[in-house]
Amino acid sequence: MNFEFTEEQKLFAEGVRKLGRAHLEKDALERAHDPRFPFEVARLMHAQGLMGITIPEADGGVGGTLMDAVIAIEQVAAVCPRSADVVQFGNFGPIRTFAEYATPAQKMRWLGDLLAGNTVISLGMTEPEAGSAVTDLVTSARADGSQLVINGTKVFSTFSPDAAIFLVYVRYGPGLGGIGSVIVERGTPGFTIGPPSRFMSGEEWSELHFENCRVPAENVLLGPGGFKKQIASFNVERLGNSARALALGRYAYDKARDYAATRRQFGRPLCEFQGLQWKFAEMAIKLEGAQLLLYRAASNADRALPSAYETAVAKAACNQVGFELAHEAVQTMGALGYSTDTLVEYCMRRCRGWMIAGGSIEMLKNRIAEHVFDRRFDQRPPKAQAAE
Ligand SMILES: Cc1cc2nc3c(=O)[nH]c(=O)nc-3n(C[C@H](O)[C@H](O)[C@H](O)COP(=O)(O)OP(=O)(O)OC[C@H]3O[C@@H](n4cnc5c(N)ncnc54)[C@H](O)[C@@H]3O)c2cc1C
Repeated sequence: MNFEFTEEQKLFAEGVRKLGRAHLEKDALERAHDPRFPFEVARLMHAQGLMGITIPEADGGVGGTLMDAVIAIEQVAAVCPRSADVVQFGNFGPIRTFAEYATPAQKMRWLGDLLAGNTVISLGMTEPEAGSAVTDLVTSARADGSQLVINGTKVFSTFSPDAAIFLVYVRYGPGLGGIGSVIVERGTPGFTIGPPSRFMSGEEWSELHFENCRVPAENVLLGPGGFKKQIASFNVERLGNSARALALGRYAYDKARDYAATRRQFGRPLCEFQGLQWKFAEMAIKLEGAQLLLYRAASNADRALPSAYETAVAKAACNQVGFELAHEAVQTMGALGYSTDTLVEYCMRRCRGWMIAGGSIEMLKNRIAEHVFDRRFDQRPPKAQAAE
């Protein structure tokens, strides 16, 4: 067991940090308050080999490991928290599911522009009546000759106001086996994108409406029975979510530590008050623990898909710790921490969302409990009760 980065990983981390300092740090505050996708950052990342890190070179990626992608998120977030979303987009989000399962023709058509930072993809999974219970989704895809006809509504899709293409979870038929996914392009007749709403983080999302929306059968990403594959690759998205949560928590923690070391009240620096020392000691313990869980899940996965259990443990820990650290950082920095002139309050708002997105902490704990007891706990009411 080795708790150190390899020489290669150290060099990679230093290189990414240097790039971030040179190109991203200056506008970090402004970028955090801009709800739209930062395409200029995506193009910069592409030029520097930070898009498609885990995607094979033959598909236009870098052919690296999931651990490299986690390192990239951490180093970018350390200087510009908002830009870490671009590393997520280019390596962990729906792009990764797409790259895993797309046909050569689909990759040829869409992957190049996504990796180059020219376009962005959004995930249409959640529906008004299917949140945590994602398999309750009702958006339908019915075959009609060489086309699919899609009907339904999706909500909360990240990057939806900017996305050129959407990876949409659909139902081809009843039950778990009836679920799969299709790619729908912005501008397809029958597909309307509602006006943007805002999350607490400032990010925007739009409702997606499909009304007899026709797409060619070549747009099928995964046919009936594809749900388990989608969720397996969604574990990658969860790790990116975990990495960002912890990295933003660390960002806020670092700012608060520097503040506590220099800010003087009652004639002495804040860090000389034991109440604050113990707060930081507790934060350090939580930070180190969550960091190891994240690295375990990422390094065990290498290039392939991470284990569902290790991912659930890492995400629950990183989401919780990231938020707690940012929350305590706001408190430590007083009114300055609560002000939008610093990024600490942004980190807190941002981390709060990841406790809900991509598998809420409660749903992850359900998954972990199943591992603990080595049995499945059905979340649905017993059939007789449900029928009442
Ligand atoms: C920042 C952000 C980004 C998002 N991005 C996307 C995206 O890109 N694409 C997309 O499709 N969706 C996205 N979502 C939606 C996200 O997937 C859902 O919010 C999530 O699945 C939870 O669904 P819900 O909000 O409907 O809550 P509900 O499912 O209604 O749950 C409400 C509460 O009850 C708890 N709960 C539910 N069931 C159980 C249970 N069995 N046991 C214990 N507790 C339970 C939940 O944990 C939650 O706290 C995003 C959400 C956020 C906040």
